[in-house]
Amino acid sequence: MRLRNIPRAGETLASHDYVIKEERKWKGCWKEVFGNDYPVRIEIGMGKGQFLMTLALQNPEINYIGIERYSSVLLRAVERLDAMEEQPDNIRFICMDAAEIEEVFGPEEVDRIYLNFSDPWPKARHAKRRLTSTAYWPRYDKILKKDGVVEFKTDNQGLFSFSLEQAEEAGWKILSSTFDLHNNEEMNKGNVMTEYEEKFSQKGNPICKLIASRE
Ligand code: SAM
Repeated sequence: MRLRNIPRAGETLASHDYVIKEERKWKGCWKEVFGNDYPVRIEIGMGKGQFLMTLALQNPEINYIGIERYSSVLLRAVERLDAMEEQPDNIRFICMDAAEIEEVFGPEEVDRIYLNFSDPWPKARHAKRRLTSTAYWPRYDKILKKDGVVEFKTDNQGLFSFSLEQAEEAGWKILSSTFDLHNNEEMNKGNVMTEYEEKFSQKGNPICKLIASRE
């Protein structure tokens, strides 16, 4: 995603009610942020937030938290939310690096993790930075509920094959997977498209998806 330095990003995000500040202080008590007991689902690397905002509108009894590393990108999500006629109350955003996820969510606090079109980090020496490398699965293990799942979508077939291998190496079970989501009737049922998914499927790229749970 192309980044520009947007000077107003910090100011806007710091004063926005939907952007969580001091996110570590909510570890273990995210239910208090939402004021209810509904399950908490997170998207890591949310980008401009189209996917998560659609889910939040569709499912008022699920809480969603979008995690994005760059404030300039998160600003776009916040602007999208502000432009909505009615803002869903079941969504919040955090500006942070996913590597710190265990500092922000307590054991079994998260019901589902979405990874959509995660950065591929093509150089082999950067493989551990991929959000589906064996460096990340143990982090997901710590914060996910026992029966929780990780759902990953990408159009990058190399990254997808790598992710299938790394999940299994980390002791996860692939519940379902496809290299062509949009032509897989069962897995595509109820699919909500992300911004990148729209862009790449319009170019003709097949979309891959896996759903993984612990063994
Ligand atoms: N999920 C969106 C979609 O599918 O349209 C955006 C995909 S974009 C290619 C990947 C996003 O993940 C970028 O906005 C990037 O800044 C964010 N990202 C990458 N690594 C991250 C990390 N370690 N922690 C948080 N966000 C990250």
